[in-house]
Amino acid sequence: MNEAAGSSPAPPTLKMDKILKDHKQLGQELELFFTHEIAPGAPFWLPKGMIIFKELEKYIRELTEKAGYLETSTPIMVKSELFKQSGHWEKFGQHNMYNLQLSDETDDSKPVSYSLKPMNCPESTIIYRFRPRSYKELPLRLSEIGRLHRREKSGEVNGLLRVRQLTMDDAHIYAAEDQIFDEVSGILDMMMEFYKSLGFEYEFRLATRPDIRAGSDAGWDKAERKLTEALKKKGIKAGDKMGDGAFYGPKIDVHIKDSQGREWQLATVQLDFHQPEAFKLEYTDEKGQKVRPVMIHRAIFGSFERFVAILTEHFQGAFPLWLSPIQVIIIPISDQNNEYAQNVLEQLNSSNIRVELDNRPETMQAKIRDSQLQKIPYMLIVGKKEEEIGQVSVRTRSGEKLALLSIEEFTKRILHEIESKQ
Ligand code: ZN
Repeated sequence: MNEAAGSSPAPPTLKMDKILKDHKQLGQELELFFTHEIAPGAPFWLPKGMIIFKELEKYIRELTEKAGYLETSTPIMVKSELFKQSGHWEKFGQHNMYNLQLSDETDDSKPVSYSLKPMNCPESTIIYRFRPRSYKELPLRLSEIGRLHRREKSGEVNGLLRVRQLTMDDAHIYAAEDQIFDEVSGILDMMMEFYKSLGFEYEFRLATRPDIRAGSDAGWDKAERKLTEALKKKGIKAGDKMGDGAFYGPKIDVHIKDSQGREWQLATVQLDFHQPEAFKLEYTDEKGQKVRPVMIHRAIFGSFERFVAILTEHFQGAFPLWLSPIQVIIIPISDQNNEYAQNVLEQLNSSNIRVELDNRPETMQAKIRDSQLQKIPYMLIVGKKEEEIGQVSVRTRSGEKLALLSIEEFTKRILHEIESKQ
């Protein structure tokens, strides 16, 4: 789990000047998402925003499947006793959770407290305990794209940056102690691959034991040593965040820098000896002995909501092609080119390119301007000349005019750009 997604210090604000817009404004203008007073702190995702959400989901699933994770899903509402057992009730704070008092179905006089989960970890341990585990199954990498609820103060709720309902790209790895290095190393590699592909600069920070914590000092010594060793063996220089670990263990956080020079804490990998103890997790080792596994928590971008907010401001709405809700727009010069334009649309559609046809009765210049405002990466202008030679005139959203291309050439070019996440 990633506490940072919901409880980190207030996010840096965007320095507003004539050009820069914040994600709330861009979200409205580009019809990606919005918030409504009916659900404070919980976004409504519009169809175009949902495309970005689903592309990120697809990417994170590709990365985790490639790395041998198994996807799970756990209930949103569970009995509060689970969080009392995990220590979250006391340490994370019951006031930061949504709790419901319901009467017992068989006995009205017995109230039962339920909570909307603020993190996935305790429920992940229930999946681990589903049946006895053997050393042969370890490391067991369980991922979950889980929807969480955290009771952020109304003054702190801010668009998608600070929400009360969030979706986390979470995972928990259950491992033997001698597997810690390989697992942490694999996670750090995954983080670097992910952030490199989006063109972000990143830095690692080691966050050590906080004042309020669970578990023994010996456990903390061991966990901090393991993470320090992992960073050293990988040759990664990490800054310190003294006292900023999760209450159950130390962590390595990834900080990225956006296009405005602001720093954000996103990815996290956390080593936890406490929850395996609290939930009495065990596996049978080679000698038939019962042993406690270690639990590693990790998230690559933390919450989808916060990450989309950061991406939206970082790119100022001009998302890379693979994330763009509309990738190509076709602009016929006159009505006489509509049939050819329709033909181009169908060809691109058949290659799974997100394409639209702008056949509104507007001038070509107005259509080009609107497409640029919508930050659509490619515009295909089709007129008499293009139709005669079966090609398209390509323009980019930055105003660059590319040569005339055949539809096959254009398709090949942008499929490569999508595939390589340029
Ligand atoms: Zn967790």
